[in-house]
Amino acid sequence: MMNLEIEKQLTSLCGKTLKEASNQEIYHALLLYVQSESKKKIQKEEGRKLYYISAEFLIGKLLSNNLINLGIYEDVKEILNNSGKNLADLEEMELEPSLGNGGLGRLAACFLDSIATLNLLGDGIGLRYHFGLFHQNFKNNLQNETPDIWLSDDCWAEKTDVTYPVMLAGKEVKARLYTIYVTGYEGRTNRLNLFDLDTIDESIVEEGICFDKSKILENLTLFLYPDDSDEAGRLLRIYQQYLMVSAGAQLILEECHKRGSNYHDLKDYAAIQINDTHPSMVIPELIRLLEEKGIEFEEAVEIVEQVCAYTNHTILSEALEKWPVSSLEKVVPQLMPIIKKLDEVARKRSDNENTAIILNDVVHMAHMDIHFSHSTNGVAQLHTDILKESELADFYALYPDKFNNKTNGITFRRWLIACNPKLCAFIESLIGKGFHKNASELEKLLDHVNDEKVLGELIQIKKHNKHQLNVWMKKKQGIELNEDAMFSIQSKRLHEYKRQQLNLLFLIHQYLEIKNGHKPSVPLVSIFGAKAAPAYTIAKDIIHALLTLSNVFNEDEAVKKWLQIVMVENYNVSAAEKMIPACDLSEQISLASKEASGTGNMKFMLNGALTLGTMDGANVEIAQAVGNDNIFIFGASSKQVIERYQKNDYCALDWYESDPNLKRAVDFIISDEMLSMGNEENLRRLHHELIHKDWFQTFPDFNAYLVRKGQAMEEYSRDEKLWAKKALINIAHAGFFSSDRTIEEYNRDIWHLH
Ligand SMILES: *Cc1c(COP(=O)(O)O)cnc(C)c1O
Repeated sequence: MMNLEIEKQLTSLCGKTLKEASNQEIYHALLLYVQSESKKKIQKEEGRKLYYISAEFLIGKLLSNNLINLGIYEDVKEILNNSGKNLADLEEMELEPSLGNGGLGRLAACFLDSIATLNLLGDGIGLRYHFGLFHQNFKNNLQNETPDIWLSDDCWAEKTDVTYPVMLAGKEVKARLYTIYVTGYEGRTNRLNLFDLDTIDESIVEEGICFDKSKILENLTLFLYPDDSDEAGRLLRIYQQYLMVSAGAQLILEECHKRGSNYHDLKDYAAIQINDTHPSMVIPELIRLLEEKGIEFEEAVEIVEQVCAYTNHTILSEALEKWPVSSLEKVVPQLMPIIKKLDEVARKRSDNENTAIILNDVVHMAHMDIHFSHSTNGVAQLHTDILKESELADFYALYPDKFNNKTNGITFRRWLIACNPKLCAFIESLIGKGFHKNASELEKLLDHVNDEKVLGELIQIKKHNKHQLNVWMKKKQGIELNEDAMFSIQSKRLHEYKRQQLNLLFLIHQYLEIKNGHKPSVPLVSIFGAKAAPAYTIAKDIIHALLTLSNVFNEDEAVKKWLQIVMVENYNVSAAEKMIPACDLSEQISLASKEASGTGNMKFMLNGALTLGTMDGANVEIAQAVGNDNIFIFGASSKQVIERYQKNDYCALDWYESDPNLKRAVDFIISDEMLSMGNEENLRRLHHELIHKDWFQTFPDFNAYLVRKGQAMEEYSRDEKLWAKKALINIAHAGFFSSDRTIEEYNRDIWHLH
């Protein structure tokens, strides 16, 4: 019945039968059909509404996820099969939206899914970037950057007639609203609101991702996080942020007013979540707009504080945004008087200079957020504890009740049901489908952890997924993987604190051991996915070293069968969906205290990988959930690390000189083998950086990492059933890391929707 109806609609949208239509035509028809089905699930807006403002929404491809959430995935698959078409081929037609960069943006996307699934009223607010961060490919063992093109006629973002005036440096521009509909799993439809300018000119991008940074009418929404190593780049980031929050704030006030708010009672209509500091200017902007509506400054401040809440995502000081007063005066002169008054209020609330907003003519955005919102949350227990105890201790003393923890989560619809259909079906066969919406039901799997047949099946599913990844890699990059090897994966943005360089040192060590006749217990395929920020030199050097080392391995017939490095180009959500189900060992090896939460760690766990990790971010909670026998923990504790930084007594050179294994591995970076295949400049710079700085303390953790990873490999090779049992225990305890749980907590403690 259902099938016939859908087929009729698709045929009519194509204007021909599905057999005759091309994949492109069917994709287009499906897009229109899904959009119209989604709109049917829009509900009347009642009570308070959440606005989640974020510079990034790393939403991934939308077709299959929407089909799953609408409950028509299987129907559509069957209809297509009957016409000789294949849903997987159609999924390939879709370009992944370039609206995010890493974990923070992916979190925002998981949250939108969970909010709609829980039938809560909540929309996203962001920007419609034309080219995202950049598209990455590798050339001569170097990262090469080009625009990440995704906008086309077949695009989920629908143009609207709605525009808002925004003043940029005293000139008015028109922010146009685009809408992507977000349908929950068996839930309601909400919106992702994205703003853009009609005047953007894509043709001003010259070679790579270079463009004239001063032409803001033409360039404003071209790229996410434009290079801020010069003044024009920094101004451009402020222009972007203000476009987002000014248009967003106007939209919020307009919607609330339409629903009956007189602005004095705004808190009964709106809850605003500020995702890290990029949207912080929404605070003074809302005050400015409320003043325009005739509300006095003091009351406007009170209203904004009741409505806004702030999420902190990092304790890396370079990421806590601070803007010079002079820059803000140039870009948003209308906000500076308000920010100055807010600074006065803050200074009245506390005579602790450290909590002021303007310090030495620099505006501290996070300080403004904490003073003038009612909630500040960290994103994993350890992270929140560190905020309270050290990083934001002065604020915690002032506002103990504002601080709370919300451990991150991931949506199981995308990160299990969609990306790992074999595993999902198998779990359903054991415990039913309840876990789709009630993730804690995965614990029922614990009844099966000693069932040999179940473990055997789990092993087969992992083998299948590894094969699928191999097929994909062959097609995408012409690289063949050794499917019989253990797959270890480290996929995440490239950053020194995440310590891809520690993995690099391990791989060098392993190589040298093999060359000396010490074969490992199992062949290893070490897979990386990582983009380095275009201006982050050392991060790019690490990529170069990994690619060069990969060449060294490939050229060596004796080593090749034991050790392989694979760098997946342009790591994004689509790549993650292929890689994560195929993983045996999940590398979560950040320097303890530096990874606020991580969400990659949760995706891997849910897909039956064991974690090799430090006691950092949500790894701590994963370890608690699965128990120490089912995870491989190593390295210094966050307490030790924080002490080292406080004493300022870490000396990389001492470690290097006192550990011959370490010295051998580090020096290999500038060995003849490496220099013959790589660039001297990049390799020497990395070598120098490690020996003389090693700011993220890879050397002290090097040995513990070797030992733990060796143990993991040994266990994997010795007893695959035991490994599978541990994997199943991990899956069974993954329920806590569902973003449905996270969103329930946000709603219970911060938003109070319904
Ligand atoms: C989940 C995800 C991330 C975040 O990974 P972490 O390991 O938590 O840093 C980054 N990029 C993509 C594409 C993801 O899907």
